[in-house]
Amino acid sequence: MNFVFLGSPGAGKGTVAKKISKVFAIPHISTGDLFRSEINSGTDIGKRVEDILTRGALAPDDVTIEIVKNRLQKPDTEKGFIMDGFPRTILQAEKLFNITRLNGVLNFEICEDEVVHRLSGRRTCRDCGNIHHIEYLPPKQDGICDVCGGELYTREDDKPESIQKRLQVYKAQTEPLIALYREKKLLYNIDASAVPEEVFRQAKDLLLSL
Ligand code: AMP
Repeated sequence: MNFVFLGSPGAGKGTVAKKISKVFAIPHISTGDLFRSEINSGTDIGKRVEDILTRGALAPDDVTIEIVKNRLQKPDTEKGFIMDGFPRTILQAEKLFNITRLNGVLNFEICEDEVVHRLSGRRTCRDCGNIHHIEYLPPKQDGICDVCGGELYTREDDKPESIQKRLQVYKAQTEPLIALYREKKLLYNIDASAVPEEVFRQAKDLLLSL
């Protein structure tokens, strides 16, 4: 089963995708994570996109499509995947149609105020990528990841200026994908403003029904 999770940054796609990935035994593919790993490893791609990510802008379509194509060639995607944060432009969506067939696109609906609140309070683990929130999901010990004991930090692009930029980019470049997937009869809406367990339940029930 091939799924795309669509929605603004901070809508909770990644958190839900990690859990859904376990239920369906298919990989969670986050292009943001792929880019961050390229940056951490100091690769050419990483060097090319580092500043772009910090600013909250979009990486070029050609690089992004290339890393997704490479990822989809790995054997763990044979039974399917959850794509989180890709596609983000019409061109990426068109390319994805050429690469593979989709079973459903979950659109995580949430208002902008809540997104800003979620992103500015988000703390990410440097080691395992696990996500905490200072209010909604505080770690047991301040600054330390509950899962692996790694250091929690505020992503550069979770700082106020970058959040505004990411939201603008989402509206201009990614929101048009909602209409595109609706037209293709692939779109299913999720109320992403609910608590994480409830959003997960909605997503799981919906995907099981497809
Ligand atoms: P995310 O972790 O999904 O919020 O992505 C973090 C950043 O990675 C984004 O703000 C972009 O700079 C870059 N990025 C992730 N996915 C894409 C994509 N599909 N197209 C272009 N840039 C992306």
